Amino acid sequence: MHELMATQAVLDAATARARAARGESARLREVQLELGSLSGLTEDSIRFYWEMLTPGTSAEGCALAVSIVPGRVRCRSCGRDEPATESIAICPVCGSFDAAIAGGGDVAIVGLATDGGPETHAPPIPVVVLPHGHEHPDPIASGRAGGAPGEVPIGRP
Ligand SMILES: [Zn+2]
Repeated sequence: MHELMATQAVLDAATARARAARGESARLREVQLELGSLSGLTEDSIRFYWEMLTPGTSAEGCALAVSIVPGRVRCRSCGRDEPATESIAICPVCGSFDAAIAGGGDVAIVGLATDGGPETHAPPIPVVVLPHGHEHPDPIASGRAGGAPGEVPIGRP
């Protein structure tokens, strides 16, 4: 159901933007989506739920243009910035866990068009996507970032 909720969030955000720009009666004609390959969502599932959710709404018949943003991981141990195919922040070069997703983790609406025309100056709208299973800090992950357990980081207020 993760994909369903994310697709609903895309639809809600696009509808809100269209109404803010063109009024309550605005109809969505096209939504351009940037889909990170590490977001946990696939183009197929978003399209599937889009077709399920949009009939009867102001986005009925709205085209969905999806561009895939490749995943990248940046490593703080060896300094490399590498393509990544899995949404786990482990350096593919040195294997360090001290790495972070540097791209492809997000979903954003980067453009949309209504029956009034394209909304060309709209800034990207990030769509909040919770990575599945990572809502709570992993005790192993939080302990491996350096420092002894219970150590208070210096410089923290
Ligand atoms: Zn590394």
